[in-house]
Amino acid sequence: MQSERYLRPEMLPRYHGQQALLASCKVGLVGVGGIGGLCALLLGAAGIGELRLADGDTVALHNLHRQLLFTNSDVGLPKAERAAAAVQSHCDPELKVTAFSGMIGPDNFASWAQGLDLVIDASDDAQSRLVVSELCFKAQLPLLSAAVSGYQMLLALFDYAQPDFGAEHGCYRCLTGGVAINTKVGITGPLAAMASSLAAHQVLEWLLGRTEIAGELLSLNLADYRLTRLKLRPDPACPVCAH
Ligand SMILES: [Zn+2]
Repeated sequence: MQSERYLRPEMLPRYHGQQALLASCKVGLVGVGGIGGLCALLLGAAGIGELRLADGDTVALHNLHRQLLFTNSDVGLPKAERAAAAVQSHCDPELKVTAFSGMIGPDNFASWAQGLDLVIDASDDAQSRLVVSELCFKAQLPLLSAAVSGYQMLLALFDYAQPDFGAEHGCYRCLTGGVAINTKVGITGPLAAMASSLAAHQVLEWLLGRTEIAGELLSLNLADYRLTRLKLRPDPACPVCAH
């Protein structure tokens, strides 16, 4: 590990002496566009040991205003592969980054997610988010869901590895009521970058032991700069997590 890279985070009490722990962590990202791409770069640059990037899309010209890992020459190429290359070139050579250019679903989830500490869902496919959450819940794999809707960014960390988490806080389906939220809405580069940063920050803090983040919905609305934290509650009729 190149310790000089991490000189400045090492000066923060929570991060001091923790690079080896971060280097042992494995994080999967579903969707490496506006939120997931920069989030992957921030996590790789922070020294997370392994990143698995999954995205079935190719880079489009209308992505470039907010999907800052990609350049003009990436247009038309698979996002997962181009994001992995960008992250790898920036980060510690020991970082392991793999790309999967497809959708994550019931057929491939188990092999893709094997050994991960956490999955970040930053997909813009609303139906896929419900599927990924259910797969994470069944696999008892923690999930951070990060989304932007207009000026509002929403983050929720579901620690499905905790046996009583579902009973206490429910799952992503409880939060949405099973409705596929339309995530293909207007967005700016700064909004996407802020959501990426919030997601990466929450994951790092959680990996370093700040477990109280789990079970909360964090909402930041940049229209009025209001930050709201709400406890997640289960839906007693949820077909995924209710018994
Ligand atoms: Zn539920």
